[in-house]
Amino acid sequence: MDRIEREEAAYAELANDESLCEWPWGRLCPEHGNTLSHTRRGTTCRHEGCERRWPGSHWKGHCDLPAAVITHSTVKKSGQWRLCAGHRRMFPAGTLARILPTATGEPGTDPAGIGLPDGSA
Ligand SMILES: [Zn+2]
Ligand SMILES: [Zn+2]
Repeated sequence: MDRIEREEAAYAELANDESLCEWPWGRLCPEHGNTLSHTRRGTTCRHEGCERRWPGSHWKGHCDLPAAVITHSTVKKSGQWRLCAGHRRMFPAGTLARILPTATGEPGTDPAGIGLPDGSA
């Protein structure tokens, strides 16, 4: 497989994993969100004190953080987006369809602090 085929296979795998965020256009720092910078030495988090480093253009990849919410989408065929907490905070305008439980099985909350249209959670 060439590089593009490998990337596409990796994207499809991430997109099909229902426990993960399905944002295909860039990764986030798992703790600080949209703070990644690209330098010649790789990808770094700009947040003060964050020691996270990734090789190469990690920031450009498909998000692989745990999904926190499902929002309605008018642009996607499936009609919905599965987003991690960081991507939800970046796109708070999406109407929530569902809030997912956390990895530990606790009921989740809306990371953007808006919640479901009917006012629950
Ligand atoms: Zn960070
Ligand atoms: Zn994400």
